[in-house]
Amino acid sequence: VNTFAQEILYYISLDQTHWLLTLAIVLVIAPFERLIPRLKHKEPRSRGWVILGVAVSAYLLVWIFKSTAYVQAITLFLNFQLFSISKTAFPTAAIYAFSLLLIDLMMFSFHILSHRFSFLWRLHSIHHADEHVDAKTGVLHHPLESIASVLFVLFFCVILGVPVIALVLYAAVATLHNLFTHANIKLPSWFDHIIRWLIVTPDMHRTHHSVVYREGNSNFGQIFSFWDRIFGTYVKHPSSGEEHIVLGLSANEKPSAFTMKSLLLHPFRKKRG
Ligand SMILES: [Zn+2]
Repeated sequence: VNTFAQEILYYISLDQTHWLLTLAIVLVIAPFERLIPRLKHKEPRSRGWVILGVAVSAYLLVWIFKSTAYVQAITLFLNFQLFSISKTAFPTAAIYAFSLLLIDLMMFSFHILSHRFSFLWRLHSIHHADEHVDAKTGVLHHPLESIASVLFVLFFCVILGVPVIALVLYAAVATLHNLFTHANIKLPSWFDHIIRWLIVTPDMHRTHHSVVYREGNSNFGQIFSFWDRIFGTYVKHPSSGEEHIVLGLSANEKPSAFTMKSLLLHPFRKKRG
């Protein structure tokens, strides 16, 4: 086994820990959501199970992909390599900082594409179908969307020669931060205003889950909040005010029901209205 393949296998082994992290954070964030909730929703009893079912399906598909076709995908993408950031003469810290910014920009771009292109939107919209956004929503993604985003980010990381460890690091931080941005918590507003210059906050991301079209198409950032300010997609507050925001999809975009079957089949259904 050559060192490159070894590195990839090492990455796969590290990647499995994210699901334990996810579980831990759901357990850590959940008490705060009870203590300092932003919205006082009463969620349907089945909601948690539906999300868990979809998340496990996505996890299984990504796991199958990683253990069967991952190395082949990387080998294929290597044919298109343009550049290798990891082989430049810059200090290691600079290479890593630049790589993390670059991966975050890829995530931001993929998120925008997911709202612009019809088929990607059909996949991504099930994430927006949740009308009770909290930390659990962070793991609600269609299995095919998860595969598409893994391939998208992997492709650009390979063609630009991003160090594998930067990808591992980003994935771990993004997993934790993703649960934080979806958390139904009310941070002190002064604190939110300071940290949102750098990272996406729960209030900022909740605006992205608004049913209002302009708000649902704003605040695409994953970890860093400045991409939205730079590309003009930043919306500071929902027009309804933070406490009265309506979350989810417009009537003609909604899946027929919030069940596992309906969410998983949603991308293949004929569009209504
Ligand atoms: Zn979105």
